[in-house]
Amino acid sequence: MSHMTTTDPVNDYVTGHEFKMLIGGKFVGGSDGKTSTVVDPSTGSDIGEVPVATARDVENAVAAASQAQPEWEALGVDGRAECFDRFRTLVRENRERLAMLDAIDCGNPVSGMRRDIDNCDPSLDGYPAMAKAMTGEVFPGDGDRLHYSAHRAFGVVGRINAFNHPALFAITRSLPALITGNTVVMKPSEETSLSTLAAGELFAEAFPPGVVNIVTGGAEVGDGIVTHRSIKRLGFVGSVPTGLLIQRRGAESGYIKQFSLELGGKNAMVVFPDVDIDEVVRGAISGMNMTTNAGQACGSNSRVVVHAKIYDEFVSKLADALGDYRMGVAYQNDTDIGPLVSRRHWSKVTGYVQAGVEDGATLVRGGDRPQGLPEGGNYLEPTLFADVRPEMRIAREEIFGPVMSVFRWSDYDDMLSLVNGVEFGLTSSVWTNDLSVAHRTANAIQAGYVWINDSTQHFFGTPFGGWKNSGLGREDSKDEVLSYLEQKVVHARFGDAKSALDRMLR
Ligand code: NAD
Repeated sequence: MSHMTTTDPVNDYVTGHEFKMLIGGKFVGGSDGKTSTVVDPSTGSDIGEVPVATARDVENAVAAASQAQPEWEALGVDGRAECFDRFRTLVRENRERLAMLDAIDCGNPVSGMRRDIDNCDPSLDGYPAMAKAMTGEVFPGDGDRLHYSAHRAFGVVGRINAFNHPALFAITRSLPALITGNTVVMKPSEETSLSTLAAGELFAEAFPPGVVNIVTGGAEVGDGIVTHRSIKRLGFVGSVPTGLLIQRRGAESGYIKQFSLELGGKNAMVVFPDVDIDEVVRGAISGMNMTTNAGQACGSNSRVVVHAKIYDEFVSKLADALGDYRMGVAYQNDTDIGPLVSRRHWSKVTGYVQAGVEDGATLVRGGDRPQGLPEGGNYLEPTLFADVRPEMRIAREEIFGPVMSVFRWSDYDDMLSLVNGVEFGLTSSVWTNDLSVAHRTANAIQAGYVWINDSTQHFFGTPFGGWKNSGLGREDSKDEVLSYLEQKVVHARFGDAKSALDRMLR
């Protein structure tokens, strides 16, 4: 294998290491001993085992979380923030291990996963600051009354995560629930559990037992969390079909549930004819998250909608630029683009490539396995389709891989209909040097997060989330912190102060 580093990260971080769930402060396997095999997507090799939780394990995790909750809430924001401080130190100390585990388990290049760990810092600092500012309100009374509102935690929060940023999700997605006094039962994707289980060791060191519980497994384990009678608030990151399913399953459980749903995208990048084409080509590739996770990111600009005047030059420059990246084993430092997460997902994505060809789009480059990489790895070349039309499957469905489609536009209103004509509405970007065109277009696009002359960046504090089927609720923001709190209004009547005073001072 070329470009092999001298040490073997799989050996250093996985082989011979035990990965256990965290329930009530204890590290445990599944109660019936069942495990699932961890496959390295860079090589296809079986490299370890992780526990599969039983229904009883989920029950135990919720019981531990319920038991720990009142004391955790009673600590107050400052007391809880002290645990965040300890946790931040541990996350920093374990940066390399967590990043490597994600590269090994998920196939995302390790350089990007190091960035993911660094990106946890703003959340670890920001959520406590936001929670301190959640003060409740005082409402005007009639002179004899005081009305005020206060916030309380829900209790136990269920967290279910997608596969594509495993450590980042494990570390940051439960923080808003925790800082508001909830305890958590968290489940990572069954495809990428290693870094979440490793993060469990850090949670166990920084937080009291039972405050964070981690169970591993697939849909059944997730369903156990979703339908549990003691879990009213659920935070979910994943696909639209699963999002729809868990809302239904939550309702079928007979308990009212509050969900936040961070779901898929089919995000459009709109390019006007006045741009610097080279700059926008670079923006298209970074916006596609090619190097972070081979396009397997919710916010990726998989639809590039380019004005006819510059279309041919844009497509040819984008095709060339996509050839500049080094594909390889994800845990080698010089890899730009890694494999897809699993063989199953590789088949799904290459199925879309086939559908694009069948539906008449022009395959400009890619679509195949690259040469010279481990046979068992799930590699797919960066793939570019041109002449894509809105009715094609590749134009409508989320592919979640390194596949970009370029559309040609000339009429402004038709372009907007194309951009808004999908079920999703997560992100979008607008590229032009004309201010009024930029803002007018940003305003007209149906999406929760729109960049102007930029792509892919997240800024902690700005609410991230989707319109339409891309989701419900907003992350990384005050709105999110508030969404983990129940509100209570208290009405106090003062009574007759004059007679009270008379009695008191008699
Ligand atoms: P997925 O929907 O297949 O799985 C997500 C999680 O749900 C996993 O932990 C899985 O085990 C669990 N799950 C599956 N079936 C379940 C059930 N019946 N009940 C309860 N839990 C169940 O998604 P994925 O393939 O892991 O992730 C990719 C998807 O996530 C894409 O659609 C992507 O756009 C989306 N995503 C969205 C965001 C965002 O912030 N909007 C971020 C990352 C990923």
